[in-house]
Amino acid sequence: MTQKTAGIHHITAFVRDPQENVDFYAGVLGLRLVKQTINFDAPEVYHLYFGNQIGSPGTAITFFPWPESRLGEVGGGQVGTVTFAVPVGALSFWQDRLQRLGVPAVASRRFSESYLKFKDYDGLQLEIVERAEGAESEWSFGGVPANKAIKGFGGAQLLSMAPAKTMDLLGNVMGLTKVGEEDGWVRYQSYGDLGNIVDVNSEPVKLGRGGSGTIHHIAWRAADDEDHAKWRAHVLEHGFNPTPIVDRQYFNAVYFREAGGILFEIATDTPGFDNDEPAEALGEKLMLPEWFEPHRAEIEAGLLPFKVRVLEGDQS
Ligand code: ZN
Repeated sequence: MTQKTAGIHHITAFVRDPQENVDFYAGVLGLRLVKQTINFDAPEVYHLYFGNQIGSPGTAITFFPWPESRLGEVGGGQVGTVTFAVPVGALSFWQDRLQRLGVPAVASRRFSESYLKFKDYDGLQLEIVERAEGAESEWSFGGVPANKAIKGFGGAQLLSMAPAKTMDLLGNVMGLTKVGEEDGWVRYQSYGDLGNIVDVNSEPVKLGRGGSGTIHHIAWRAADDEDHAKWRAHVLEHGFNPTPIVDRQYFNAVYFREAGGILFEIATDTPGFDNDEPAEALGEKLMLPEWFEPHRAEIEAGLLPFKVRVLEGDQS
């Protein structure tokens, strides 16, 4: 059986304060908050999703904000850096913008591409790169016009404790192609046009520690439920131990831990974030799956309120 993923579906991380999280990803980065819900496995914690205008697969970065979270340490067994793609010519806009909003950023080069590397308020490692491929976002917010906006993921840098095994998984199970090797990084590419380029460290990296400022898991795309069932059988056949298929309301998910320590998920492109609210109103209200609806009052009482707002430094 040959399975190939189009690329990254979403990436999920731990942070502390929900308002700071929204201020960074909507306020600074100009992404749309496409869903506010709760962690279905820990309903006292928000699950916030940010992406393009509808949170298309390959654009959604998601968070579990938990104010009492311990501090994490970026390291082996994690996605180390999340890469965002912007239109060609937009990097200088982002350099100026990050500087104006007080976000320190450094320029860096890898595989003949220029990157702008910076961190969010929790220390999560991020970078922006120009890419010609991938549809432009239709969302504009604050000082970010749609034609400069983040399109979605360019990809990610993985930090594996067993890179040879992680690379074997990417190439022989997930269906990516090795396209380069340079300065301790090996580059893999999928056939999609967003979230399609991941770099893996060539030497093992020491175990990190989960907590705020670190990535919890990376999810890969399956087309639909039928393809998803094939994916589960496929990873099982290759010796991994996937969970049963879980209903995440906006997609179905299976999870497995790969040999390098990184938690992988495979998620369906369907049904998407307009599954339970209209596309024009995405992210405006706390949405709960029907099995949590009877507990709405107590769930809401335990969550810190926040607002999507244009930052003070961004008002012209
Ligand atoms: Zn996920």
